[in-house]
Amino acid sequence: APNKNRQEGKQRISVCVRKRPLTRAQSRRGEADVVTTSGGECVTVHESKEAVDLTQYILQHRFYFDQVFGEESSNEEVYQGTAYPLVQHMLNGGKATCFAYGQTGAGKTHTMLGSSAGEPGLYTLAVRDIFAHLSTSHTLAPLLVYVTFFEIYCGQLYDLLDHRKRLFAREDGQKVVHIAGLRDVRVDSVSSLLQIQLRSPNQQIRGRMWFVDLAGSERASDTKDPDKQSRMEGAEINQSLLVLKECIRSLDQEQSHTPFRQSKLTQVLKDSFVGDSMTCMIANISPGNLATEHTLNTLRYADRVK
Ligand code: ADP
Ligand code: MG
Repeated sequence: APNKNRQEGKQRISVCVRKRPLTRAQSRRGEADVVTTSGGECVTVHESKEAVDLTQYILQHRFYFDQVFGEESSNEEVYQGTAYPLVQHMLNGGKATCFAYGQTGAGKTHTMLGSSAGEPGLYTLAVRDIFAHLSTSHTLAPLLVYVTFFEIYCGQLYDLLDHRKRLFAREDGQKVVHIAGLRDVRVDSVSSLLQIQLRSPNQQIRGRMWFVDLAGSERASDTKDPDKQSRMEGAEINQSLLVLKECIRSLDQEQSHTPFRQSKLTQVLKDSFVGDSMTCMIANISPGNLATEHTLNTLRYADRVK
């Protein structure tokens, strides 16, 4: 079947992996690094019964992705390989979405927002490039940058720019999803926020990009949790991740029915799965042997998104 993804010359979906270094806590516990990356697109997980004995590795799980970043990669390198082409697409009026996926502690927030340690995240680097571009483009009506930042928790929306105020998503007559009452703030510099819109002075949208720091993937499988709230959370996350996978895949196929409405996440992101949207998913993984099961789950999920 003709592959739309490649046909247009521009890759619409890219799925990448980023391995973080062992943390000091992991090293102190004597955890072994069981993940190797090679060739820029291959990642191997070494599994053993006797976890830390390197001669005992009996199973190798190998996966190929569009790009694989090892623990030596900086946020800037990851940005250049993942979000940068999406930012260019956005600056040309397009829609783009960049997801970080993976187990809690695997590096999603470090990748998207950066760490207090000083390495700016992909969001910040994108904003940097957007302002640089706008400052050198000589149009009569300069574009303005707006940002929104909210979270989805147990299927409900909360505005992180407005004291976690509860919000509601609605579809209008043109089937466009709006979040009623979501505050948007015009920004002049960089801060930790997750949707960027470019608008003309008369408020027409001229490009937009989402940065999505997904809920920890281990919560999805963790639905046996005895605590009722946690079980609901787990079930909700599981559902969103399944629907998200279907929605991303539908970008690549002539699919008439995309199940946007089956989770709040995909309902809100609906625009990202239609038309000429570009999507990048970064699967964040931990190198430690104690995380092997979650790492394999993350890689298998990402593998099915491709
Ligand atoms: P998540 O958001 O997936 O739960 P975090 O981004 O909070 O994970 O990362 C967990 C810890 O690991 C943090 O202390 C973070 O600073 C550190 N970390 C994550 N990725 C990297 C990296 N690539 N290099 C150095 N430290 C990292
Ligand atoms: Mg996080």
